Amino acid sequence: MYTLNTPVSAVHGIGSTTQDKLAAQNILTVADLLLSVPLRYEDRSDLRSIDALEIGVLVTIRAVVLSHSSFYKNKRLISTAKVADDSGTTTLMWFNNRFVHSALKVDSEYFFSGKVTPSGTIIQATFEAISDDTTHTNRLVPLYTSTLDLKQGTLRRILKHICDQLDEAEPDVLATASAAHNFPLPNLTSALKQLHFPNEIEAVAKARERLAIEELATLITHSHRIREHWKVKNNAVALLPSQDDTAQDSLPFTLTSSQKQSAAELFTDIAAQKPMNRLLVGDVGSGKTIVAGLALERCVHNGLHGCLVAPTQMLAEQHARTLRQFFPSIPLAVITGKGIALWEKESWQVQKPKPSLHVAHLLVGTHAVLNLINSKNLTLPVGLMVYDEQHRFGVDQRSTPQGETTPHILTMTATPIPRSLMLTIFSHLDLSTLTELPKNRVPTKTWVLPEHKRSDSFSWLLTQMNAKDTHRKIGAFLTLIVCPFIDQSKQESLELVASAIKKYEEIQRQVPSNIVVALLHGRQNAAEKNKVLRQLYLQEIDILVSTPVVEVGIDLPQASAIVIEAGERFGLASLHQLRGRVGRAGQQGYCLVFHTTSSQETKRRLKLFEHIHNGNELAEQDLRHRGAGELFGTTQHGFDQLQFANWSNFELIAVAKQIVSELPTGWRSALQGRTQKTPTPVAN
Ligand code: ADP
Ligand code: MG
Repeated sequence: MYTLNTPVSAVHGIGSTTQDKLAAQNILTVADLLLSVPLRYEDRSDLRSIDALEIGVLVTIRAVVLSHSSFYKNKRLISTAKVADDSGTTTLMWFNNRFVHSALKVDSEYFFSGKVTPSGTIIQATFEAISDDTTHTNRLVPLYTSTLDLKQGTLRRILKHICDQLDEAEPDVLATASAAHNFPLPNLTSALKQLHFPNEIEAVAKARERLAIEELATLITHSHRIREHWKVKNNAVALLPSQDDTAQDSLPFTLTSSQKQSAAELFTDIAAQKPMNRLLVGDVGSGKTIVAGLALERCVHNGLHGCLVAPTQMLAEQHARTLRQFFPSIPLAVITGKGIALWEKESWQVQKPKPSLHVAHLLVGTHAVLNLINSKNLTLPVGLMVYDEQHRFGVDQRSTPQGETTPHILTMTATPIPRSLMLTIFSHLDLSTLTELPKNRVPTKTWVLPEHKRSDSFSWLLTQMNAKDTHRKIGAFLTLIVCPFIDQSKQESLELVASAIKKYEEIQRQVPSNIVVALLHGRQNAAEKNKVLRQLYLQEIDILVSTPVVEVGIDLPQASAIVIEAGERFGLASLHQLRGRVGRAGQQGYCLVFHTTSSQETKRRLKLFEHIHNGNELAEQDLRHRGAGELFGTTQHGFDQLQFANWSNFELIAVAKQIVSELPTGWRSALQGRTQKTPTPVAN
């Protein structure tokens, strides 16, 4: 029997190679592995007799192998098998599958699953021995993300074995508490089993609900603990305004009224000795950075260091550039896994030997900033920590420097969270919201387009790019092309990068030579990346092909159009985040979403995106359309997304709150908050 805490090394069938692959993704226990949830399910439960096969339908047949053979044709290994059931015979075929020949036994009976081709047979059928508890055939079959670097079949086999051996007898306080609230929920272990090998598709929704409650309860109880802990603190340095504070007046634009209000709320908080713990929420492009910047500036003027922590190196460098531009007199360093960088020759250059940090008053970087300022031999007085889209809304505060004084904390996010929910879940945080975009913005024109409109729309974009002289206001017309989002992982998979590279090559072949095309993704080395970024900032690029991961948060005022490939794979809120990248200098922006879906339902969902321009509303629509079988990725944008719960599911959050009130003090989830993994920074 396994429990959730059993190390993967103790699982039968996981050898050292697999173990290493899993460890590389931070998967160490049975719980971690069970939380690698299926991306979707394939319904292979339609069991047919051979005479009832229908072209294009995914079926399973139960048939005996009469004969089989394998041979090479044009360097391709072809395997065929003649199989029969009571109703007739058919021939199955596989390409380049070395396994078939040795696995199939003549006169044995198997389940074969696959789609029926126009020739009336099944190509590349998945097969397995007959049993009433199958793994790969004759049932709803889970399909997993490819980032785990394991074959689908292998991963599925391992997970089936774990589910079969998982101890369900562990007491489950949360399930008991939920029953008390007339909201009966399955045990955690049963829910995890159903999530992987559901008996019917409805069970998936119930299982996800159970995990969502687990996740929300974890957040709520954790937040209570922080609030208690924080309540008694009174050891922050009060950051006061100077007599002649001109920071706001020297900005190149006037702040929106909600920026002004948020800044004022921050200033009040940081002027006290009780440390601030505030969340700044604002839609993409609402201008959160400058609000944080003003507080950081005040911190520096009080003689303390200010830190800004971003999820990726690229964003850290961008923030540093922004702050440098707004506050040119403040010395600033960029700190990443690569070292400490200062501004030299138009970009951030890592310094060797390392400079003393005492000279830089603003420290902007990735998680490395925290490692550095927490290191024992460095004592830097830090007055304010700002986290951008990263740290689970301040729930994870272990990494915040703790010394004689506590720094004020500001967390920023674009995830739309209504105020009432905020107060329910994050009782330890105060909230500031940016409710408007800077006045100069016009809504981005959005079109959801079928494949056959591609070449026309691309020609139209080229005309726009060639006419860039008419875009004088910003001097350039940059088009972003975002490649298909492939799986839910927050890390860039090799396939995703491959698809971006392929797209880049394809676009390069298509465009005239005066159009400069560039490629940006998380697996490029620093030199390559810096070259592209530099060209971007100098506005020398016309088309940037990238992966969605890299896109997050990047601020390029000259970006005027964005083309999103395979739009059906994104949630509407994610599409909205991507759309928020264009038109930021006040020019008309364009968003073109291509899709290849034939599902009317998906098309209707995408259509909503054409005319809804409000992040909150789109997030709600996402929730409404999130059927049990359809799990489009929602976790890749915004770094704080939850794995199961959804900010727009108010009812469930209310239930979670009630259940938490029933939980014994000191309750901790058996999942230990594992569902909200801190992402590995892409560029580190
Ligand atoms: P986000 O809230 O998504 O992080 P940013 O802080 O990156 O947005 O701001 C987006 C862009 O808007 C930046 O180029 C920024 O300089 C600009 N900006 C911010 N505030 C204003 C304003 N009040 N008026 C005009 N432009 C602004
Ligand atoms: Mg931002």
